[in-house]
Amino acid sequence: NKHIYKVQWLSDIKDDAAEFSNDHTYSHTESMLKIFGNTFGLKQFRSNQLEAINAALLHNDCFVLMPTGGGKSLCYQLPAVMDPGVTFVISPLRSLIFDQKQKLTSLGILCGALTSDVSQREADEVYRELYKHTPGLKIVYITPEKIAKSDQLTQLLRNLYERKLLSRFVIDECHCVSEWGHDFRPDYANLGQLRIKYPGINVILLTATATPRVQKDVLQQMHIDINQCKLFIQSFNRSNLIYECTLKGTTDTALKKVANLIISHYTDKCGIVYCFSRAECDKTAKYLSAYKIKALPYHAGLSDSKRQLVQNQWANDDCQVICATIAFGMGIDKPNVRFVIHLSMPKSIEGYYQESGRAGRDGDISYCYLFFCYQDLVKMKRLILNDDTQTSTKEAKKTRVDNLNRVYDYCLNNVTCRRTQLLEYFGELFPSSECKRMKQTVCDNCRQVLKTTTINCTQMSIDIIKMISEFSHKNITIPYALDILRGANTKGIRDAGHNNLAAYNSCNQLNKIDLERLICRLIIDGYLQQEIVIHQQQSFEASVAYLRLGPKAHMALSNQSNKFMNSIELTIRTEQSNITNDEKRKQQTPIEQLHEQCLNELKKELKLIFGN
Ligand code: ADP
Ligand code: MG
Ligand code: ZN
Repeated sequence: NKHIYKVQWLSDIKDDAAEFSNDHTYSHTESMLKIFGNTFGLKQFRSNQLEAINAALLHNDCFVLMPTGGGKSLCYQLPAVMDPGVTFVISPLRSLIFDQKQKLTSLGILCGALTSDVSQREADEVYRELYKHTPGLKIVYITPEKIAKSDQLTQLLRNLYERKLLSRFVIDECHCVSEWGHDFRPDYANLGQLRIKYPGINVILLTATATPRVQKDVLQQMHIDINQCKLFIQSFNRSNLIYECTLKGTTDTALKKVANLIISHYTDKCGIVYCFSRAECDKTAKYLSAYKIKALPYHAGLSDSKRQLVQNQWANDDCQVICATIAFGMGIDKPNVRFVIHLSMPKSIEGYYQESGRAGRDGDISYCYLFFCYQDLVKMKRLILNDDTQTSTKEAKKTRVDNLNRVYDYCLNNVTCRRTQLLEYFGELFPSSECKRMKQTVCDNCRQVLKTTTINCTQMSIDIIKMISEFSHKNITIPYALDILRGANTKGIRDAGHNNLAAYNSCNQLNKIDLERLICRLIIDGYLQQEIVIHQQQSFEASVAYLRLGPKAHMALSNQSNKFMNSIELTIRTEQSNITNDEKRKQQTPIEQLHEQCLNELKKELKLIFGN
């Protein structure tokens, strides 16, 4: 069913899978299938594997975009075994190289590696093999730094090229080539030279993360013509994952919910709890341990040996729950993770897709819970803005703040299908009807029998921006702005003279959540921004975020705003259609059920204490 989704490639839609599907038999087909079964010991191709392998064996450049765990490696390993020469694979992490090398060796495929941690003796051995008349290696893994720095390697490549024994270059995790990507590596940027230095040598590009902008940029940097390159793009939807966002309350109540959730739904099931900081990892692990849940912290503050120990325990199912910062992830592949909980917001939507995607690698139904709150947003923004490390340029900070705003918008959005929202970042137009069809794994928003309506919020937006402009000397936070806009009549508002501002009444028709969504939109669109201010209060500091005018505010404030502003629309929930309590319960997510359970327990306790 991989073709039912409309996948957006740059501005057009281009997917070359059909051209190389299993309807075709080529001269390589028979021996290829033999190696697939006998050498690799596999029975069935996964989506797009056969197609990409065919295209590669027919001397095409290929771009393979597949979710993590989709089986990208086979797309170059099988052609490499078939080709007469040597395939060079550029991979960013020594740990990934080590894993792949071990795996290939166990299959009896001759391979080598040239990285900084390979001993001189081993490296010499690799070079000796490759200078032989018939090289004894099929695949050689290298890091991009080696290509950039090693003359010895350059000479070898030239020699193989001239002897027509250079089969192919493979660039794994190729999004690292692009500065637009989330994981740019300067050494990757020079890989474009390979095309120039070794004309006629085909390239396979592999990645699991590339927005259309990154895709385009990677091809450009690599000097590959999009029209002649074969593209294999696959829906990123993870159909076995259930996505849900929940308002957090305090960290302590969230922790209590997490503990209850694990005890009530995940006895003996593995999961990851992503935490905000090292301290929060430690605290969470301790808290869960008090509930007799086998939980361990994992973060960059632990020694290498300690981290290795935790990883091993996790791999052997000796540890049920990992409480981790995002340091936990790259290269860790456990199939039976049944839940991923974000105790605080992820840093970007792409990050969220990756982190939540560590659930359910085995294809079984798994849950992804995300706890969020306004205070976390402020806290995380403060951290970004205070980051004084060298790589944190003004531009980089802006991107990080922008990424975070989008995550907050995702959390607040209680209408749009989670899958639609997530996959949009990969340029994929995923219809919510598809989510509703996946009855068992429908997302929290689609689960509700909802009536929605789209309203034009342009005038409200102008009013909000005007208000911030008029009160620019006052310090207005989002919660305070919500109160003013909704006509709250608190003492604070009266004292400040912010009550009865009839001018802003247009916002009355939105409820609090929707109004907050609108303000978040205005921030994302550049009409407003948040300034983080740190208040020193005796022994501790509090960070506060004040709303300020953004770079585009003047458009809304000009007399001809309707000429300069695009109209702003918001789709919101309207009254739920008449549904029975039974149906309501069916719609409930585990966390909602938990609410009820906790409330009932509380009621019972109160009854015991106070009687009826
Ligand atoms: P990716 O690089 O896309 O994240 P890998 O290439 O590392 O994924 O493959 C993930 C796992 O799937 C590996 O354990 C691999 O052996 C397995 N795998 C790949 N292709 C197949 C297949 N056709 N049938 C069964 N298992 C496969
Ligand atoms: Mg891979
Ligand atoms: Zn949905």
